[in-house]
Amino acid sequence: MIRQGRAGYPVREVIVHCAATRSNWMHNRPLADKVAEIRRWHVQDRGWRDIGYHWIIDRDGAVAPGRAETEIGAHVAGHNAGTIGISLIGGHGAAADDRFADHFTPAQDSALRRLIAEIEGRAGGALKVSGHNEYAPKACPGFHVARWYRQGRA
Ligand SMILES: [Zn+2]
Repeated sequence: MIRQGRAGYPVREVIVHCAATRSNWMHNRPLADKVAEIRRWHVQDRGWRDIGYHWIIDRDGAVAPGRAETEIGAHVAGHNAGTIGISLIGGHGAAADDRFADHFTPAQDSALRRLIAEIEGRAGGALKVSGHNEYAPKACPGFHVARWYRQGRA
């Protein structure tokens, strides 16, 4: 079981996002630099106390931590308590009904599925897997997450 915040909200869901960056954004820079830049957007530009996401996945499938899983994130208004936010690098110009492969790499597909399975292991059971665009009128992450997730498991 993963519990978040002082109230100990149990994690029941993973919500997928994208960074809305162009495919060559910070090309050849380490993922740590990209995470630092996203953290700067969230802390300096939005005034949050830390990066809003719990995990970030680079174009090559590398995974880096953001906010600790035991802390409530800042990634979907009204749905932060009890959810884990994962952001995929890329997705600039995406529409909500595009396909995963239109904007993200096969390495990101594998890494995202692996990361969800790892989180489910820590959470002690299957989690709901959804996208930001199911909770807000946004394109993010640029594909239909529940459909993508089901297809990969068929
Ligand atoms: Zn989002």
